[in-house]
Amino acid sequence: MDSLFEKLNLVLKGRVLIDEPLMRHTTWRVGGPADFFLVPQSRRELSAVLAILGEAGVPWEVIGAGSNLLVRDGGIRGAVIHTGGLRRWSRRGDGRIRAEAGLPLTTLIRESAALGFSGLEMLAGIPGTVGGAVAMNAGAGGQEMAGVVEEMILAGPGAEEPWSAAECAFAYRSCTLPADRIVAEVSLRFTPDDPEALQEEIARRLIHRRAAQGVGGPNAGSVFKNPPGEQAWKLVERAGMRGASQGGVRVSEKHANFIVNDGRGRAGDILTLMEKIRQAVLAKTGIELESEVRILGEE
Ligand SMILES: Cc1cc2nc3c(=O)[nH]c(=O)nc-3n(C[C@H](O)[C@H](O)[C@H](O)COP(=O)(O)OP(=O)(O)OC[C@H]3O[C@@H](n4cnc5c(N)ncnc54)[C@H](O)[C@@H]3O)c2cc1C
Repeated sequence: MDSLFEKLNLVLKGRVLIDEPLMRHTTWRVGGPADFFLVPQSRRELSAVLAILGEAGVPWEVIGAGSNLLVRDGGIRGAVIHTGGLRRWSRRGDGRIRAEAGLPLTTLIRESAALGFSGLEMLAGIPGTVGGAVAMNAGAGGQEMAGVVEEMILAGPGAEEPWSAAECAFAYRSCTLPADRIVAEVSLRFTPDDPEALQEEIARRLIHRRAAQGVGGPNAGSVFKNPPGEQAWKLVERAGMRGASQGGVRVSEKHANFIVNDGRGRAGDILTLMEKIRQAVLAKTGIELESEVRILGEE
């Protein structure tokens, strides 16, 4: 363990945390500790870290802003790689932008609109990173990441490789990536538009989001995927679960597909409430809700 720590620390120059509580890194503010919490500051460091972990046979997970994550209270054995240090981006000719995985989506959307690049303005206000948004095929208002991603660079043990949008097989809130790879950089192609009109659209989206989703506490956005032809929040409401609570968490009165933590909630409370909602919706409508949030870690 010591020599693994030393190897990681040498590459990351001190940015190796031990037993780091993941509640500090998820928007729900729940989640137990990660054995190792690693914060590479460059793609070179990222590949080097993956090589060390691979040689040592240490399992790992990657997280961005933790805005679509439920980490169980037992935390994560092995390593968690946080992409927050990978934030470079540059404009390419022809309406293209290259962005590293840890760049906040809000920065990408603001900067692309200022350049007169349309394609992601409807996603304004989604609190994730570029890498997390690609992995989830994040979307809103008729736009999604799949509409702009052209290709990407995946980091693997000691090396990088290109991966095309076609290989991603984007679908509703999902994208196919090899299990042992991390999105390091994404190349995005936009459509030209008027910068002022784009900025106005972003402002409208932010107002709309605040009105519809200002739920007043830590949350992870929509908990369940919309089943085909249905809206998850309506099903939760029909099942009488709006306002239902468990321990320190409750279904938002404002948006029935959001679960809000009052600050005392634990991952176990959220999992129990999610199961109660699933059972209530199944009993009422015959529809099985599927989690949109990714669930990681040990009980
Ligand atoms: C208030 C609120 C509103 C939201 N609204 C929306 C919305 O309108 N539409 C929508 O689609 N989502 C929405 N979300 C959910 C969430 O913000 C998005 O899914 C976001 O794109 C997740 O990005 P992240 O960086 O937080 O990913 P994380 O939550 O950190 O990770 C999500 C998944 O992506 C994987 N991942 C992260 N980074 C990488 C990487 N570099 N390479 C490979 N895999 C990676 C993780 O392993 C995990 O499986 C909302 C969330 C909140 C809290």
